[in-house]
Amino acid sequence: MNIDLRSDTVTRPSAAMMAAMQAAPLGDDVLGDDPTVQELEAYTAELLGMEAAVFCPSGTMTNQIALAVHCERGDAALFDEDAHMLFYEVGAPAVIGQVLCRSVPSTDGVMEVHEVERRMLSYSLHTPPTTLLCLENTHNRAGGAVIPMDRLRQYRELCDRNGLHMHLDGARMLNACEWLGIEPAHMASFFDSVSICLSKGLGAPVGSLLVGSADFIGKARRWRKRLGGGMRQSGLLAACGLVALRDQRHDLIHDHRRARMLAEQLADIPSIHVDLAKQSTNFVMVETDLPAENWAHALAQHGLHCIPFGPHRLRLVLHRDISDEHLAEAVECFRLTAASVKPA
Ligand SMILES: *Cc1c(COP(=O)(O)O)cnc(C)c1O
Repeated sequence: MNIDLRSDTVTRPSAAMMAAMQAAPLGDDVLGDDPTVQELEAYTAELLGMEAAVFCPSGTMTNQIALAVHCERGDAALFDEDAHMLFYEVGAPAVIGQVLCRSVPSTDGVMEVHEVERRMLSYSLHTPPTTLLCLENTHNRAGGAVIPMDRLRQYRELCDRNGLHMHLDGARMLNACEWLGIEPAHMASFFDSVSICLSKGLGAPVGSLLVGSADFIGKARRWRKRLGGGMRQSGLLAACGLVALRDQRHDLIHDHRRARMLAEQLADIPSIHVDLAKQSTNFVMVETDLPAENWAHALAQHGLHCIPFGPHRLRLVLHRDISDEHLAEAVECFRLTAASVKPA
């Protein structure tokens, strides 16, 4: 058996998505007349309780467009120190938006409010004005952690007092909403803009949306075109996105349930460690006694694929192509590997 737990991006389009692609009315979205893209954008804006949305090829693009629209060249933006936008977007804030990024210490993806406040500089002859706070929810490097709603409220008050905008890297925002049992529009209400990915746990093959005010999205459209993100018969992809949001959104809860089950079973295996108190959403973070690279290699021999996420840490990601049978198999792979993995 082949069990791919490298990421929730590895899913294949569902039968419903294939059918939706065949049936989708298409146009040319750069010319502004693809009805399926328009439907996806309207649906997403409504789901998040915001005025408008724009469909883009990736979450990197939606995040970087948001930075470029919110910030003037030379402005400062604040991020938690483990943010995807700092780690995994190839330095784009420096290249595209030309924004000064300042990182704030964080624990499990959550920053102390006073640490954020300490880094806000106002406009003067000397200082870069701090104009944007970016958050990530759920948090990738923090193992799928969810930011408490009360903390969102505190960040919002702080930003309002100091004139900052707030952007959410919500690649997995819908996981956070399912986990907390809240409506997406409630979470989005704390932000000026939100980026969501359809290609993660929601199971679409490609695509992300940036959501915000009509004025903001108007500017974002020009940035999308500038970056080469204008797509033509993209209604094909939007059709999958509509299935993902309308029909597959609440399935995320099963990924969370399976992640919990997997974490509990792995916690019983000697020579690895899983912190059940921190277990949340669809990731399982496994600490290994021996180097994580050795574990990943040995697990792959048994048919289980995952990504080392530190010298002694593996990241396992649950997604809609993993069934309960796969789970039992995955635990068995770990048991076999525990017996066979060798020191470096
Ligand atoms: C996946 C991801 C993104 C966007 O990634 P793309 O591969 O560019 O779509 C952004 N933020 C987080 C937290 C992610 O996990």
